[in-house]
Amino acid sequence: MKRIIIIGGGPAGLMAATQLLKSDCEILLLDQKTSVGRKFLVAGDGGFNLTHSETPSEFRDKYDSEWIKKAIRQFSNKDWIKFLKQIGIETKVGSSGKIFPADEIKPIQVLNAWKEFLAPKVQFILNTRFVNFDENQVEVDISTSLNTPGKTEKLDFDYLVLALGARSWPVTGSDGFWVPVFEQKGIAMNEFQASNSGLVLYENWLGDLEGKILKNIQTTCGNQTCSGDLTITSYGIEGKPAYAINGAKKNGKTRF
Ligand SMILES: Cc1cc2nc3c(=O)[nH]c(=O)nc-3n(C[C@H](O)[C@H](O)[C@H](O)COP(=O)(O)OP(=O)(O)OC[C@H]3O[C@@H](n4cnc5c(N)ncnc54)[C@H](O)[C@@H]3O)c2cc1C
Repeated sequence: MKRIIIIGGGPAGLMAATQLLKSDCEILLLDQKTSVGRKFLVAGDGGFNLTHSETPSEFRDKYDSEWIKKAIRQFSNKDWIKFLKQIGIETKVGSSGKIFPADEIKPIQVLNAWKEFLAPKVQFILNTRFVNFDENQVEVDISTSLNTPGKTEKLDFDYLVLALGARSWPVTGSDGFWVPVFEQKGIAMNEFQASNSGLVLYENWLGDLEGKILKNIQTTCGNQTCSGDLTITSYGIEGKPAYAINGAKKNGKTRF
């Protein structure tokens, strides 16, 4: 039997495993933490929007990259909602059209339902850090699980899926420490870019307003306009209208 190794147990790795269940391969899913889906659970502390209720074509139009559009054509927001229902997770549509788990369902229940769905066919190997790879093998650091510093092991694979996340909230395992593994092999890497980042306000007029919400705000940057609520933070503002103009600024559409 051929073997697929997936590295990274965030939503990307879990979804890769889900899609690969159709294959006749042995599937191993490795993660460096003691459990998978840690950032998924951090997301669950906040809004935890799972997707959006718009039509698949409207949903697709939100993305710039052709490869993402192609992926969404094969597995759309509607397919994801259907899958969640299949694993016993009912959803609800929020006032802005976003999809959330139904009221009584906690983020950990969503994660557990997904893991249970995968468990019969996917072997989860935790506390195992990917440190290198070649055409047939991955090298993993297993010193945490065995309490033997520096101990590594090589695992054979026929197919390798890397779903290592990026570099924010390192406590969840998304530490980006894997970048040098690729650089040392001469593989060109793109810089990490924040997708949702708040805006720093340099003028100190925020005083003790931290945590207060500004309702129904519209922001405009260049030709991009966005409406929603803003949250005042210790350094500036967060929220959809802030992320939108940050995105416009990052894309070099205007000076800000
Ligand atoms: C505060 C917050 C709120 C969010 N809210 C939402 C939301 O409401 N809706 C939404 O859709 N998204 C939300 N997100 C974003 C969402 O959590 C991420 O987009 C998503 O987790 C990315 O999935 P991923 O699988 O690519 O990466 P990750 O979830 O980061 O998973 C990567 C995995 O790879 C493992 N890994 C990394 N390096 C190695 C290595 N060398 N060896 C072995 N394993 C390794 C990590 O331990 C981790 O488990 C939020 C994020 C944050 C921080």
